[in-house]
Amino acid sequence: HWPTSYEESKATLDYFCKHLLIHFGDYQDALHTEQRFLFHSRLSFSMNSKMLHPLEVVNTVIEYWQKHQAKINISQVEGFVRQIIGWREYMRGIYWMQMPEYATLNKLNNTNSLPDFYWTGKTKMNCLQKSIQQSLDESYAHHIQRLMITGNFALLAQVNPDYVDEWYLGIYIDAIEWVEITNTRGMSQWADGGIVATKPYVSSGSYINKMSNYCKECHYNVKHKTEEDACPFNSLYWNFLDDKKEYFQRNNRMSMMMRLLEKMDGAQLAAMKTRAYSIIKNPDAY
Ligand SMILES: Cc1cc2nc3c(=O)[nH]c(=O)nc-3n(C[C@H](O)[C@H](O)[C@H](O)COP(=O)(O)OP(=O)(O)OC[C@H]3O[C@@H](n4cnc5c(N)ncnc54)[C@H](O)[C@@H]3O)c2cc1C
Ligand code: SF4
Repeated sequence: HWPTSYEESKATLDYFCKHLLIHFGDYQDALHTEQRFLFHSRLSFSMNSKMLHPLEVVNTVIEYWQKHQAKINISQVEGFVRQIIGWREYMRGIYWMQMPEYATLNKLNNTNSLPDFYWTGKTKMNCLQKSIQQSLDESYAHHIQRLMITGNFALLAQVNPDYVDEWYLGIYIDAIEWVEITNTRGMSQWADGGIVATKPYVSSGSYINKMSNYCKECHYNVKHKTEEDACPFNSLYWNFLDDKKEYFQRNNRMSMMMRLLEKMDGAQLAAMKTRAYSIIKNPDAY
């Protein structure tokens, strides 16, 4: 799949303009078992390895849209351009401002090991199985898989960000430290305490169910919380909020979830914490 020259990178860019740009914004947060790339451009490797200049990517996409405005809505283009001149440049700035200290940050004091299934894909959790297997096969996962499936689980399982960093840096074709570490330690694991993102990107199974078809063919039931077949993300989510509440008490963006946590029935929270601890203790059994 991966271009190894300017010409091949340019062909990937042209393919994106002709066939994928039209739906980029609509589906950029979607996840699907049968669609590994959806409408994503697969241009990060070309840009990060400097085969293709980000400005050429942005200008080509804007020019293509200007000639095809009747067919392509501006929202598709805006979403794409924003990722490159927004997020990508922001990450570069953070890296040069914050390193080398940034690589040592672990503000939530997470100490657990990364489950073995990150390296094998062997898990009964369908969302993780599909996202990890694809990452191992293609050296690629799109943003929401990295953030809301593999990153989400690692944070909920309170994995040491050093191990999470090692995995992302080792797995993805576009992983170069300046853009990998800021996304992983910052955006995904909140190990920087909020330098990159105002709140941690964590969710229970219901978000994954809303954005994907993973739950339909999963071993676990996304609606269950504490039963034997309950989706592990559900108990891990509430356990994470409870374990880490001291860090979020003064975070306005977390206040709604903190209030829900406070109101939760004590016995239900205790049951979820029991299940969460058994998952954290032996994640490879799930
Ligand atoms: C935990 C985690 C780790 C990540 N590690 C990397 C990494 O090592 N290298 C990397 O290039 N990106 C990384 N990203 C950002 C993003 O997931 C990838 O840039 C994107 O998935 C690459 O696929 P694409 O080219 O098809 O992107 P598209 O969805 O087509 O997006 C277009 C371009 O926007 C840029 N972009 C979008 N989001 C980001 C972002 N958050 N940060 C920087 N650039 C962005 C990329 O250059 C990308 O090519 C990571 C995200 C997370 C959550
Ligand atoms: S039920 Fe839970 S573990 Fe299974 S795919 Fe859905 S979110 Fe993932």
